[in-house]
Amino acid sequence: MKQSKQAGASIGTALMWFRQDLRLADNPALAAAASGGLPVMALYILDDSLPWAMGGASRWWLHHSLAALDAELQRQYGFGLTLRRGKAETLLPALAAECGAVAVHWNRCYEPAAIARDTAIKAALKQQGIAAGSHNAALLYEPWTVQTQGGSWFKVYSAFWRACRALGDPQPPLPAPKTIKGITGIASDTLESWALLPRKPDWAGGLRDSWVPGSLGAETLLGNFLDHALNGYAEQRDLPAITGTSRLSPHLHFGEIGPRQVWQAVRLAVDSGSSAVAKHAEKYLSELGWREFSHHLLYHFPELPQQNFRADFDAFPWNRDEAALQRWQRGQTGYPIVDAGMRELWHTGWMHNRVRMVVASFLVKHLRQHWREGEAWFWDTLVDADLANNAASWQWVAGSGADAAPYFRIFNPMLQGEHFDPEGAYVRRWVPELKAMPARFIHKPWAAPASVLHEAGVKLGTTYPLPMVDHDAARALALTAFSSLRGQDAAPAEATAGRPRKLRRAS
Ligand code: FAD
Repeated sequence: MKQSKQAGASIGTALMWFRQDLRLADNPALAAAASGGLPVMALYILDDSLPWAMGGASRWWLHHSLAALDAELQRQYGFGLTLRRGKAETLLPALAAECGAVAVHWNRCYEPAAIARDTAIKAALKQQGIAAGSHNAALLYEPWTVQTQGGSWFKVYSAFWRACRALGDPQPPLPAPKTIKGITGIASDTLESWALLPRKPDWAGGLRDSWVPGSLGAETLLGNFLDHALNGYAEQRDLPAITGTSRLSPHLHFGEIGPRQVWQAVRLAVDSGSSAVAKHAEKYLSELGWREFSHHLLYHFPELPQQNFRADFDAFPWNRDEAALQRWQRGQTGYPIVDAGMRELWHTGWMHNRVRMVVASFLVKHLRQHWREGEAWFWDTLVDADLANNAASWQWVAGSGADAAPYFRIFNPMLQGEHFDPEGAYVRRWVPELKAMPARFIHKPWAAPASVLHEAGVKLGTTYPLPMVDHDAARALALTAFSSLRGQDAAPAEATAGRPRKLRRAS
């Protein structure tokens, strides 16, 4: 990307503000900006002033995603991105004036701070006499369009998804605009000057080996998934040793591909595939439904990332322990499936969904660390870190969330490992110290006879940790802690006065 562009800004332009929609196709804001034939500025603002500024893995992704978008814009339309860093409330109205914009377009975000910011920007632009257009690129069904019969919002996933499906298939995706004229003369930061990539140390080698950020990377993953994994998804999605899921989550988060595009591709695969595919496709679409539900919850309960959805959990006796938290973060708990997951996360910036549930349950229940500790670690280390999905999922595992797994359902890490990684291939990949352990003992090495450990080259407590807590004892303590909540107000938030919000739109 160049440092600054040619002088001579045009009068009467349109401004396209890219955010979590880093793509050209099925981008309604870009289509709207291009539709009037005016010269367009393609802008991205790095705004670290909002709460939940991006973590390290997300910043790595963003760097490459912006580079990919810039290259696509150049290739397709002959102009690139304008980059600015700072508060969008200040920068955007000023830039709009500088480039003579008559309209500014963006696609809606649903994080509470983003909604407040965008509302303020809309008002400021209107005062300047500039039209502000917001659009939907991120969701199949926007939160205020899915309502209960009584006109309220949903707190139960199955009812929510039924209501979504009753609305019919989402809109088909839009093609990328055929031509767009770019504007010149507006200064831009360089991507390098934002220093989004880790340097000292450069810990991103595993991320580079695992991902191709950008729309092309997303299309490749989607194609591979449809060709090789969709037909079997309902069963294979739970096996962490194989590529049984789409791995599209970071691409969806950054908007390099939109859910409508994924939806349509899956539908076409069903139409052209065998009848057996339909069941798997339905399961896959229902996982997109969990993404929708998480956004629905965050939108209507904006405190979701920091406050228990179920108020009775406010009294839960967490057992803050920094050393225990660190052992979990580093994959040194002594429970192989947990350690494998935490190391996969550290190395690749992603973790298989089944294993996310196991490691989260272990942190919250076996170690009784607050779910917010896990949420924060995931926020920093996941390339798909997403405020809605992360908060809703952590609260779901903890039992404090909407439609959550009951607290007393405590994942048994040995049984989970034996069931979903029966040969131990996943553990062997991420915990090489246990590579030579026979499958029978790989999920519970402490139960192996001394001769088996010796032959596998495993010295418990030296080459691989002993379990940091005893499963049965930890489970009993967790249940006791949970039972201390009884007698408190156990009503979920839907019955809690004052919490549900009035239905309104994002800006
Ligand atoms: P696929 O199985 O291919 O599913 C397709 C898409 O559906 C995903 O890309 C994702 O966008 C969506 N999806 C699937 N499962 C869920 C789910 N349970 N909740 C919400 N959306 C879902 N997902 C994130 O995108 N960002 C997060 O920060 C995040 N944090 C999580 C934290 C915990 C504790 C747990 C248990 C889950 C979390 N998830 C999060 C949900 C889920 O694990 C990932 O979306 C999924 O593993 C991504 O892999 P995939 O793209 O191969 O999924």
